[in-house]
Amino acid sequence: MVDYTLPELPYDYAALAPSISGKIMELHHTKHHQAYVTGANAALAQLAEARDAGSLGAVNKLEKDLAFNLGGHVNHSIFWTNMGPDAGGTPEGELAAAIDEFFGSFEKFQAHFTAVAMGVQGSGWSVLAWDSIGQRLIIQQLFDQQSNMAAGTVPLLMLDVWEHAYYLDYLNVRADYVKAFWNVANWENVALRLAAAREKTSGLLLLS
Ligand code: MN
Repeated sequence: MVDYTLPELPYDYAALAPSISGKIMELHHTKHHQAYVTGANAALAQLAEARDAGSLGAVNKLEKDLAFNLGGHVNHSIFWTNMGPDAGGTPEGELAAAIDEFFGSFEKFQAHFTAVAMGVQGSGWSVLAWDSIGQRLIIQQLFDQQSNMAAGTVPLLMLDVWEHAYYLDYLNVRADYVKAFWNVANWENVALRLAAAREKTSGLLLLS
């Protein structure tokens, strides 16, 4: 059995500056993401202990802990790769075509994704996802690390709008952070994720 581990970033902490500072990236990765990894491993270990002891009275708390912490680990692992130092601009190829097909245009997609990010009450994420059952792109508003998303959706582009993601750089002005995110959005990574999701989820939820 392998524990979850903190992945390395594919670039230096300071590589996304000035859009996102090295100080935030280092704290976010080494402290916040690490805490989710530690929490997910702890939840799995506690669930195993509870099964072995035949003592499942705390199962609701432990399942919530697992969803929150594993959600945090998954979300951040995707988020880091969704950004890059030589990124920004607009999508190309099949990703651009899919965005046009399902959202009308890149500008409409960007406005929708931004509104979702700005609208998150409390902590959460804006997510471009591949819906396995409909075989289509959708935008989802993810609460905390684990809520308000349908099962069977595959996240392709995730924007963290927890205050820990931007407060050091932008204080309370989330809009400036969301605007800066587009400067570092790694469309090549999103395109790879879309191609993989399309190929691997075809028919997945329609087995009969
Ligand atoms: Mn975060």
